[in-house]
Amino acid sequence: MISGRREFILGTTRTTGLLVLSGLIWSAYVDEITANKLILRPPAALKEEDFLSTCIKCGMCVEACPFNTLVLAKPGSNKPLGTPYFEPRQIPCYMCPDIPCVPVCPTGALDATSVSTNKKLDINKSKMGVAIVDDKNCIAFWGIQCDACYRACPLMDEAIYLKYEKNERTGKHAFLKPIVNSDICTGCGLCEHACVTKEAAIIVLPRKVALGEVGNHYIKGWDKKDEIRIKKSKNQTTKTKISEKSALDSLNETKDLY
Ligand code: SF4
Ligand code: SF4
Ligand code: SF4
Repeated sequence: MISGRREFILGTTRTTGLLVLSGLIWSAYVDEITANKLILRPPAALKEEDFLSTCIKCGMCVEACPFNTLVLAKPGSNKPLGTPYFEPRQIPCYMCPDIPCVPVCPTGALDATSVSTNKKLDINKSKMGVAIVDDKNCIAFWGIQCDACYRACPLMDEAIYLKYEKNERTGKHAFLKPIVNSDICTGCGLCEHACVTKEAAIIVLPRKVALGEVGNHYIKGWDKKDEIRIKKSKNQTTKTKISEKSALDSLNETKDLY
């Protein structure tokens, strides 16, 4: 009798265990396919696809962070399960000069070389995201004096600066508008954390989401650095039916154009 009960309990436990397990796997699967593209990764993270295939979800970076900035994604969080991320409005990255979260990564998912200058760790090189100002809700754009984000920035006057403009509405006041330099902004989110509005009027987004990409078809002819960019880029040509011929032939064969 006891043995019968034992088998029944064991069987039920096994079934429940399997149901819980399959529920967890299903939840992880749903999280993976619906994963929020707005996720912010730790400093020095590889490109998102490479990061996802390299990070083993060990949590070493999370453990190493002295500010509890980094967390591992939980089931149902709409983020790839077990991967580290941060939410700057809750806790930003404090840009530790020794970047303790990076060297502990055992797989290279956080690549120290991408945040190093002359083999020395340099947090200012990190590109966790980029801050974007919502000029409709930033009160500095209304003419109210606020520089909380500007003052919070560890790269003040480089990553973010205040632009002076005359307030034409009042004729006697000035706007001091926060402007982000996306080349320098690290995406630490200290500005988002400091913003005084109910919902932050400056937020950090992944660079891939927030920034465009000009490609190799346009060049700033007045900028030597831009010429180097084009020279370094892989040779790319766009071939169409018309461009296969010489320009003169194409123009003469008007049927191709209509
Ligand atoms: S740099 Fe410092 S604050 Fe930022 S995630 Fe790494 S350990 Fe945390
Ligand atoms: S230490 Fe590296 S492998 Fe481990 S969770 Fe962090 S990023 Fe992933
Ligand atoms: S995220 Fe904000 S605080 Fe951090 S570097 Fe960029 S502008 Fe400065």
